[in-house]
Amino acid sequence: EVSTGALPGWDRVDELVHEAHRRHAADQSGMVAGYIPILGAADPALFGLAVVDVAGGVHDAGDATHPFSIQSISKMFVYALAIQEHGHERVRDIVGVNNTGLPFNSVMALELNGGHPMNPMVNAGAIATTALMPGATSAEKWERVRRGLSAFAGRELTLDEEVYRSESETNQRNEGLGSLLSGYGRLEGDSDAIVDIYTRQCALNVTAHDLAVMGATLADGGVNPVTGERVVSADVCRDTLAVVAASGLYERSGEWLFEIGIPAKSGVSGGIVAVSPGKGAAGAFSPLLDSAGNSVRSQLAIGYLSRALGLNLFASA
Ligand code: GLU
Repeated sequence: EVSTGALPGWDRVDELVHEAHRRHAADQSGMVAGYIPILGAADPALFGLAVVDVAGGVHDAGDATHPFSIQSISKMFVYALAIQEHGHERVRDIVGVNNTGLPFNSVMALELNGGHPMNPMVNAGAIATTALMPGATSAEKWERVRRGLSAFAGRELTLDEEVYRSESETNQRNEGLGSLLSGYGRLEGDSDAIVDIYTRQCALNVTAHDLAVMGATLADGGVNPVTGERVVSADVCRDTLAVVAASGLYERSGEWLFEIGIPAKSGVSGGIVAVSPGKGAAGAFSPLLDSAGNSVRSQLAIGYLSRALGLNLFASA
């Protein structure tokens, strides 16, 4: 049955988080990511789930504190920092908000659109977004990204050196996208240096618990409900969640919104964060992915929670 309104009490939410984990723990479908060598070595048995509400209530189940690289989920938080810095119009004009309809690392999408990245949740748009981070040097820009994402998480996030190295060695495609953006005059600064910052941001270590805190900050109008720190404005949260709702789950974004009805972003290491504005957020991690690159168990567990907690934004009853 679908319930609407505020989240139920802490005990009930805790029960549902553990139930969501229990129900889907045995699911072995999907495959670990293959195209970044180190991600292929992930343990397919790992499965963590966490919920954080806007009052700071925390629920962890399974491997909720197991670290993994944030990958594409970083895109939404760097996007929020970029809008905070430059404003709604400027970022919309530079990066775009529409779906490309093509895979996340598509070069074709960029070519078809006159070199405009179209969307901050695909790699070209994410690289253009990272380029908007303030800082006189690459080191300053990187530190700004790392600090910003740490403020969302409420703890100091650090780089997974092994993932960063593995990805840097096989990064020709992102370097190509960076060069192409530069060639079209749509990237300021040295494209390889910006792609390097983007690669580092993808290699920041987080846990499912961290993702829930980061998402809950967006659910809470930009204030981290655990630390009490304001990270971004409420307007920035609204803008970010709109883009995430439209394009957070790769080519399955429409299906996700249709079935589950809340903004969510996934990454190829197996994380998903889902945000229920004004209520809270769920973070999930499990390395087995479907053919679009979305974690299978993470989708199932969050889908279960969305139904049980009545989170679908489009449901009026
Ligand atoms: N670092 C990965 C890349 O740029 C992120 C992929 C993803 O999570 O979608 O290819």
